[in-house]
Amino acid sequence: MSVSIKIPSPLRRFTGNTRSVDVYGATVGEALKGLINQYSELGVHLFGEDDHLRSFVNVYVGGEDIRYRDGLETTISDGDELVIIPSVAGGVDSVNDAKDFGREEYLRYSRHFTLPEIGLEGQRKLKNASVLIIGAGGLGSPILLYLTAAGIGKLGIVDFDEVDLSNLQRQILYTTEDIGQSKIVIAKQRLLASNPHLEIETYEKPFTAENALSIAADYDILIDGTDNFPTRYLVNDVSVFLQKPNVYGSIFQFEGQLSVFGTPGGPCYRCLYPDPPPPGLVPSCAEGGVLGVLPGTIGTLQATEAIKLITGIGQPMIGRLLVYDALEMTFNQLKLRKNAACSVCGEHPTITEPIDYEQFCGVSSVEETVSIPEITAVEARDILANGHNVALIDVREPWEAKITRIEGAKLIPLKTFTDRLSELDPSQEIIVHCKGGTRSAKAVELLIQQGFSDVKNLRGGILAWAKDVDTSLNRY
Ligand SMILES: [Zn+2]
Repeated sequence: MSVSIKIPSPLRRFTGNTRSVDVYGATVGEALKGLINQYSELGVHLFGEDDHLRSFVNVYVGGEDIRYRDGLETTISDGDELVIIPSVAGGVDSVNDAKDFGREEYLRYSRHFTLPEIGLEGQRKLKNASVLIIGAGGLGSPILLYLTAAGIGKLGIVDFDEVDLSNLQRQILYTTEDIGQSKIVIAKQRLLASNPHLEIETYEKPFTAENALSIAADYDILIDGTDNFPTRYLVNDVSVFLQKPNVYGSIFQFEGQLSVFGTPGGPCYRCLYPDPPPPGLVPSCAEGGVLGVLPGTIGTLQATEAIKLITGIGQPMIGRLLVYDALEMTFNQLKLRKNAACSVCGEHPTITEPIDYEQFCGVSSVEETVSIPEITAVEARDILANGHNVALIDVREPWEAKITRIEGAKLIPLKTFTDRLSELDPSQEIIVHCKGGTRSAKAVELLIQQGFSDVKNLRGGILAWAKDVDTSLNRY
C-alpha cells in the first residue's frame, strides 16, 4: 500500500524540511519503519527503546487516533494519509533549550515533580509553553487560574469587557470591588499574585478577523473561552490555519461541551457544526441563563486538556466530544470524525483566511435593527406622560417582571406573543420593551409583519429606563 505521511514542523529538520513523505506498508508500524528507513534520524524521536511509539507522539490515520484502532498494527489502505502529531511544546527538542527552575519553583511545583508522568521534564514543557485564552469570563476564570498555578510560561489573554456585578455569580477571577474595572487589568494582577514566574500578555480588544492570526501566531495552544458564535468560529478557523490546537469549551444553562479541535488529522468545530444556528434560535447565556458553577467545571477540564497537550501525557480529546449534564451528573462521549468536505479543514477548503464572522453568523443586526422603529426611554416616558393612547407591552418572562417592571406595562412574554396578538389593538400606538431591547425588537418585527402600523421598540429595554428615567428600579 502506498500512503503519505505528513511530517509536523518540529520533525521536519530530520526530513530535510519535507512536509509529506510517501512510503509503502500494510500497517502503520510498517509505514513508520519505511519512513525511518528514508530518514534514520527520525527513529529516536518516534520510537523508544522498546520499539513502542513514544508517549508524546500521536499518529492518526484518516483522522482517527491509532490508539483507538489497533495501534501500530492498524491496517492502512492505498492512498491513506498518516499524520504524526507530537506534543505541541516540541516534545524532545524543547527540553534541551529549556529554561531552568529557580529555588522557589522547585518547591512551588513539587507536587508535579512527584508525578512520574510530569516530573522535571513535563514541568519544563509547561514553563516553555505559551497559551492564548480568548475570553476572560466564566470559562476563562478557572482556565487562567489553573494554568497560572500550573506554571505555564506565557499566557495571552484577549478580552475587552469591564467587570459587571452580574459576572460575579460565575467569573471567580473577580471580586465585588473590581466592578467597573477592566477585566484584563484585574486578571493580570490577580494571576501574577498567584504566580510571579509567568509572562502575561494582554490584548484589550475584540478578537477579530483582522487581528486574530497575528495574535494567535505567538502561541502554542488556543483556548476558546468565548460566549458567542462569531468568535467561536473565528478561533476555530485560526487554529486550523495556524495548525495550533483549539481547546474548545462551551456552556449553556446546565450543560457543557468539551473537545480539542484543529490538530492536523483531527476534526475541527466546523466538521461538527458547519454553520452557526440562525440568530435567535440559540439564546445567549444572558438570555438563557447559566448555572454559576458550570463554567468552573468545563473551564477546569479545558485547562486539563491544555496541560495534557503540552506535556504529551494521557489521551487528548481529539476526535471526541464530551457532553456534560450537571443536572443528571452525566458525562457522555461522542466520537467525532473529520469531515472531508469541511469548508476549512477538509480536502478542498473554501475558507482559507478569516472571514466576516458577524455576517456569517447573521448577527450583524445593526442594519436590521435600524429598520425596526425605535424610541428612547426618555421619549417613551414623555409620550406616556402626555396621556396619549399608547399601549406599553413588556415581552419579558413573569419572573423578570417580579424583579422590576415599568408602571402600566402589560406583560405578554415573547413565547406567548403570537397566541395573544388578539389582545392588542392594531389602531393603537404600541411601545414594546424587554430587558435590553433584543426580544422586544423581535416582537416589533412580528407586529409589523402582522400589519400593525404604529409600533416602536424601547431601545435598551427596561435597563435603559432604569438608567435614564427611574433610577429606583431594580436592575438584574
Ligand atoms: Zn473541519
